[in-house]
Amino acid sequence: MKDAQKKHAVLVVAADIEEIGSIVRALNRSDYDFITARSVPEALSNITYRLPNVIISEAELPEVDGFAFLEKIRKGIKTRLIPFVFITDSKGVKERVHAYQTGADAILVKPVNSEELHAVVASRIRLIEEFYHIAVTDELTRLYNRREFLRKFNEEIYREEKRCLSLALLDLDHFKQINDIHGHQMGDNVLMTFAEVIMSVCGDVYFPARFGGEEFVILFPGISSVDAKEIVERIRNIYGAISFQGDKKKVFYVNFSAGVAEYPHMAANLSYLLSKADHALYAAKNEGRGKTLIYSPLMGRNDRFWEYLKGSRETFLTKDNTDVVSRLPYLPGALEMITNLDFEIQSIGTMAISIRENPTITAVRGRQNLHYDIRNIVSVIMEACENNFASDTFYCRGSLFECDFVVLFPSIADFSFNLQKFKELCNDIFQSISRNPACGVFDLGYACDVMYFDRKKPWGLLDGVKRIMGEIHSSDIKRKKFEKLQRNARAIQRTPSQNKPLIETKYYFNTFNLHREYQYFVVSDGPEYVFELDILIENQIKKQAELFSKTIAKHTQREKELPSMVPWNGGIDLQEYIDMLAVHLKGRRMLLMINEAQITDKVRDTLIRTIRSFPPAISIGLDNCFIGPDLLNVLSSIECKALCFSENVIRNIHSFKERIKIVNGAKIFADQLGIPVLAKNIMHEEEYLIVRDLGIYYASGPYMEHLRKKGVINGHM
Ligand code: GH3
Ligand code: MG
Ligand code: MG
Repeated sequence: MKDAQKKHAVLVVAADIEEIGSIVRALNRSDYDFITARSVPEALSNITYRLPNVIISEAELPEVDGFAFLEKIRKGIKTRLIPFVFITDSKGVKERVHAYQTGADAILVKPVNSEELHAVVASRIRLIEEFYHIAVTDELTRLYNRREFLRKFNEEIYREEKRCLSLALLDLDHFKQINDIHGHQMGDNVLMTFAEVIMSVCGDVYFPARFGGEEFVILFPGISSVDAKEIVERIRNIYGAISFQGDKKKVFYVNFSAGVAEYPHMAANLSYLLSKADHALYAAKNEGRGKTLIYSPLMGRNDRFWEYLKGSRETFLTKDNTDVVSRLPYLPGALEMITNLDFEIQSIGTMAISIRENPTITAVRGRQNLHYDIRNIVSVIMEACENNFASDTFYCRGSLFECDFVVLFPSIADFSFNLQKFKELCNDIFQSISRNPACGVFDLGYACDVMYFDRKKPWGLLDGVKRIMGEIHSSDIKRKKFEKLQRNARAIQRTPSQNKPLIETKYYFNTFNLHREYQYFVVSDGPEYVFELDILIENQIKKQAELFSKTIAKHTQREKELPSMVPWNGGIDLQEYIDMLAVHLKGRRMLLMINEAQITDKVRDTLIRTIRSFPPAISIGLDNCFIGPDLLNVLSSIECKALCFSENVIRNIHSFKERIKIVNGAKIFADQLGIPVLAKNIMHEEEYLIVRDLGIYYASGPYMEHLRKKGVINGHM
């Protein structure tokens, strides 16, 4: 905590080198660091490098004498409290009085007695340390005060120039209430106990201080924010277990919130660092207190985004038994709700819908994108089912490992009176769902039936739903279509000269002025199915990639001035691929679009290592971005020149208010890094309007085609 490990420094000033030696010997060499000088100018110059804890000086010195030296010392802001011991030949009282008047702490007459010198020096150091300690600590908690903290921080920053340094702000939760309920005395007690715990955890290694009121700060030299957070959590564990006995013997516990920030990568100076830690503290308070958060640039600007990023996506069900992906209740929970309805249920119309992913797409785009997809589809299901039946409609996730959703229509009537009509209605609903673009390449299937409800045997419902789910046979049409496209894509690779069938150039537009900004290439089978090449060409091998880059080169002839976005999906060595592109697309500007899902640690390392050696015309763009913590990591470690959201993030965005805020937060984050944000394949006007309002400049897709037909945009898409 303090610099106690460092020996105290004693400045010895004497004209004669022998004299210096005898003082040093008298004080015992190993107890102190000695600074020596043979004249006052030399002494003053040495002091600028290290401030001594005690000065021992002869009174008689050449040039400037000891008295003038003492006067200077007493006038210096940093030196005026340093104990000053005179060594003199003279036994005259007059001289001693003069010395004391000038500010000497002790006067010893030669020959100096070793023990006396020892005692004088040690007692002066102790006394001054005591004073110092009082000046820099807080009366109540004995922790350092704010001023000392700031001094220490500046010292550490100077020392840690090349290393990191973290800072944590800790603030007791609802402390005012403790004062109000249990009295100020108890409040003080709570504060003192907190300080004791902090000190016990910090030891001599970290530097805690009372920042004011019930707010504390800890400096962690050389410690990353992540490790600092862990230490703060250690404090929480100990402090949280301490019980206080308050008014009327009522036992209570106290918790705190904390914010952590790290120098230099989050802030370049103390005031910034403090403000960042404060942002994090504020976010922790906002999130319900009792936790430690590390600063993120988004904290101050978009709470929703930040909350979303922290949401755990590792589990299937949340604490209240809802599915993490769709946010719907899990089937048993929904059935329980229905059995507890307070009207007499005759029958339950039941529709089970299964969503089967395409493994190739999931492999390229990643599971997180799949989750966004599913959320989109669930919103489509809900929209399609709305207002079809008289009673409330219940939606739930049917199984944890398969993507099955169940819609339940409990009714006071008996559906089986008109079973045919019920089935027709379900078929209509299902058709409208599967036509929705959000359902893209998924294989959707459904089955429906009516269940009867016996309050005495509610579990019979579970068996009933399971039976219905078991009846689903997926249509497989989409899968077949996708496989055909895949074959086409491979054909393009095999025969690059034949640019039929199906390779098309598409553009990203600036949505403000509708200028084209980038070109990219897709495989298309009519207006309905447009696929990016990366998915279709899943196992790029070297030869294929070569043909492929030639194909692209041919297509870029038309619009040479526009940067081309070229996909990479991990099938071929990145460096090899870049070299190849550099040859085939010579001189043209290129953005190598890498799927966020493909950025493994290895790819990231390669990129970080090699990005500077890229040909000047090639830069990296991040494609198919899902908004998650990984995105922030990637963006902050790799120099990207464009960020393109996954199509699924923007799909039906108008139905997801929360998602709009999250996308907005990501945009703000990208703005801070100076990266343009792109949204692809805009289908609906609503999507387009939101994308435009959020300042996501670039868009493409069917809606842009529609604008072209209306004459808003010129040229082909
Ligand atoms: P929050 O969880 O938002 O931090 O709520 P809070 O009540 O802790 O925050 P607030 O800042 O409103 O209240 C801080 C209180 O701390 C107000 C002040 O009276 C009290 N306080 C400040 N210094 C001392 C002190 O030295 N002793 C005691 N007993 N109370 C103090
Ligand atoms: Mg507080
Ligand atoms: Mg406070």
